[in-house]
Amino acid sequence: MIQRSLPIVETPSKPRVKYVRSLSQIEQIPPEDLAKLEEVSKRYVFRANTYYLELIDWSDPNDPIRNLIIPREEELHDWGRLDASNEQSVTVAPGVQHKYRDTVLLLCNEVCGAYCRYCFRKRLFMNDNEEVSKDISAGLAYIREHPEVSNVLLTGGDPLIMSTRRLREIFRQLREIEHVRIIRIGSKMPAFNPMRVLDDADLQAAFREYSLPDRRIYLMCHFDHPRELTPQAREGIRTLLDCGVICVNQCPLIRGVNDSVEALSEMFRELSYIGCPQYYLFQGRPTAGNEPYEIPIVPGWELFHRVVTAESGLAGRAKFCMSHETGKVEICGVDDERIYLRYHRSKYPENTGRFFSCLRDDEAYWLDQLRPAPGSFVPHGVRFAEA
Ligand code: SF4
Repeated sequence: MIQRSLPIVETPSKPRVKYVRSLSQIEQIPPEDLAKLEEVSKRYVFRANTYYLELIDWSDPNDPIRNLIIPREEELHDWGRLDASNEQSVTVAPGVQHKYRDTVLLLCNEVCGAYCRYCFRKRLFMNDNEEVSKDISAGLAYIREHPEVSNVLLTGGDPLIMSTRRLREIFRQLREIEHVRIIRIGSKMPAFNPMRVLDDADLQAAFREYSLPDRRIYLMCHFDHPRELTPQAREGIRTLLDCGVICVNQCPLIRGVNDSVEALSEMFRELSYIGCPQYYLFQGRPTAGNEPYEIPIVPGWELFHRVVTAESGLAGRAKFCMSHETGKVEICGVDDERIYLRYHRSKYPENTGRFFSCLRDDEAYWLDQLRPAPGSFVPHGVRFAEA
């Protein structure tokens, strides 16, 4: 009989993770930079952890992980709006957003495992913000009254920062609502701190109990760069899949982090291999503080197009979208004269599924800065640039 040897799977070592809340705790930041960057962190809060900081190559001044987590002085430039997609306008109760018919967002936590410098919800981390509600009873009541809601997205902040006891209680209450089929969790913890999943047997048990064959839990992961796919992160995804959780990835295109064909291709490819394929690549929202991280629409699409056309179907199946106030607008193509767009999801029925085109503008970052092309459908609710 032929003895077949099993492949050796190395269990990655699991570091103890400590939070780092002050830039002065990072000895690699030169003293001459520290005071300036601390000024930035007074406006847009800084938070990291020892595991994630270990991923930085400090000898590289343009290191992508460093750019993702360490403040930059240019964040103080006057640019963008704090709520660039006007999420306030779809807030139906404290901590509850309802924009698309079938999906409700519960903003149940305003803390993350670390803070991405380019975050589009950085307003939630500011002192006087009341858009998050730790008490989800109003959200549950709203969902119960809306039988069309089949998907509930737990977001914030990062829901996986919450205690397992609290998460389990939320899962239990959502599972009592018959019409809620999918529970989504938007989380960057598999990147920021995969030990949150690896070290907590109770969390794994909760996933097993509440991710059911016809009522799944989806983890909407947030990896931004292939270097985040460490052995521990890969083990975290393997563990989630083993618990019956479906994993997909979504992230923005970020200047200085993942704006290269090499970085995006490797990430899309590796994510497809480990069972967490890319779902959306987002055009960065023009959020206050985000000027150093944004890329205009046209070069962003050109980069995306080069990546997805060179990859396998599974690695290249993501859509490149703007999360605009009026809906998820897919950027479908660009030619010499026009940018071609389509409503993938729409807030207004009259825009649903509609294709339209705008005059090409290589400097524009957002739909509102464009102008409709002659003869195109003009979507409802968009404040286009003046001619
Ligand atoms: S994990 Fe998400 S919510 Fe938290 S800082 Fe990063 S982008 Fe913002």
